[in-house]
Amino acid sequence: MPEQPSAEYPVVIVGGGWAGLATAVELCAHQVPVILLESARQLGGRARSIRSGDMIVDNGQHLVIGAYRSLLSLMEQVGIDLQQVFLRLPLTLRLFQGNKPSLYLKAPCLPAPWHLLGAIVFATGLSPGDRLKALRFGRKLSTLRITSNGDISVQALLHSETQSPAIISRLWEPLCIATLNTPVAEASARIFVRVLKETFLGLRKHSDLLIPKKELSDLLPRPCAEYLELNKARVEMGQRVTDLSINDSGVQAVSVRRRTINASHVVLATPHVISRRLMSRHKLLQEVSANLAGLGNEPITTLYLQYTPKTRLSGPVLGFEGGLSQWVFDRRVCNQPGLMAIVISARGNHENMPDDELTDRVAAELAVSFPDWPAHTRSLLIREKRATFCSRAGVDRIRPANSTPVPGLWLAGDYTATGLPATLESAVRSGVKSAQAILATL
Ligand SMILES: Cc1cc2nc3c(=O)[nH]c(=O)nc-3n(C[C@H](O)[C@H](O)[C@H](O)COP(=O)(O)OP(=O)(O)OC[C@H]3O[C@@H](n4cnc5c(N)ncnc54)[C@H](O)[C@@H]3O)c2cc1C
Repeated sequence: MPEQPSAEYPVVIVGGGWAGLATAVELCAHQVPVILLESARQLGGRARSIRSGDMIVDNGQHLVIGAYRSLLSLMEQVGIDLQQVFLRLPLTLRLFQGNKPSLYLKAPCLPAPWHLLGAIVFATGLSPGDRLKALRFGRKLSTLRITSNGDISVQALLHSETQSPAIISRLWEPLCIATLNTPVAEASARIFVRVLKETFLGLRKHSDLLIPKKELSDLLPRPCAEYLELNKARVEMGQRVTDLSINDSGVQAVSVRRRTINASHVVLATPHVISRRLMSRHKLLQEVSANLAGLGNEPITTLYLQYTPKTRLSGPVLGFEGGLSQWVFDRRVCNQPGLMAIVISARGNHENMPDDELTDRVAAELAVSFPDWPAHTRSLLIREKRATFCSRAGVDRIRPANSTPVPGLWLAGDYTATGLPATLESAVRSGVKSAQAILATL
């Protein structure tokens, strides 16, 4: 059995992304001694800010939705005023094809599910027949159950629900790629349905879009670090854990270079590739490690283009159909007027294009859509090759629980069995759950 947590044998959390931070805050709130070890020089992991010259941007534009209840409650727990840090908008989808609007959908101010009904009934860019089919699919959602063994692709589900090619490419495909970061032909219908249920079948506010007004590191990592420091937790940066000491009674310690840190419990809040590397040499962890190898990775590319400060979108975010660019965010929301963040999710031809070519192609697409914009003056391309795991059909069969076969060793991260795709919410929910599992053993 693991030791009871104490100053000498704390709970060691490996990784200071949003999952690790959530674990640490939850344990700290229950006065459990905690050390958080992060290999990088900053917290935040895959959701952090970076500096480029005099500009601070995010490693990728992030969007939060009202259904992220664990994340929003963690933010409140560490003292963040949600109204100050987010621009909250009712569900709105605005898509362009070239220089023409191709879809406009906005939830009216009605209680759920009437807000969704209104959004679809009054959507422009969808034929009456397609709107009816979308409504039928929406009505069926609450009773739709897909088991992990019976999982199919989102495309197969939409075909079986007689959704037309037009509504798939204009509505469902952009939603699927934005939330699951996986192409519809492969994406898991089970996870997609879960996202649709959590977003659209709960309260009206769950489908709200929350656009960060602050850079990502200020949104959660810094307030969490302050909370942890105030509550006497140790947060150490630049500490790469290279090994786990495990014996017959469970996990004993972690190694950081030549240092050994004793632990009562260890939470691996590292990306799945690293968790696998740390676990694979231990006999009891062979099966879970082998499963992690099957999760795969999907990229997300973000291109920042700086225009003159007067340049603006008609709203904070706009979608694109039929080109390389998928979404454009106006960073005026973050007090960066004239800066546009263009997001390209999942795999695609853009991965093989040199940076200059991709930048030129995307800038040319924007020039078609907004002919009166001036030329951009500066650009920054960020390719996150391992942005998320691949939410492909059947993936829930191999996502691990928070507990492992080794007593005292736990997993936290967006890839664990939360039923959600790789999102901030999945990371935080997993972190809180791993902390609660430890608390339950005390
Ligand atoms: C470009 C991009 C755009 C995204 N957009 C969205 C979005 O709009 N909405 C949304 O909800 N989600 C989005 N996501 C997904 C979201 O960012 C992730 O799901 C989430 O940040 C994962 O958090 P995590 O804590 O599970 O993992 P990570 O953030 O990967 O955290 C793991 C941490 O462990 C550290 N670490 C690794 N190895 C070691 C070691 N050996 N020792 C110590 N520490 C170690 C890492 O440095 C890292 O800080 C996006 C992701 C990317 C990359």
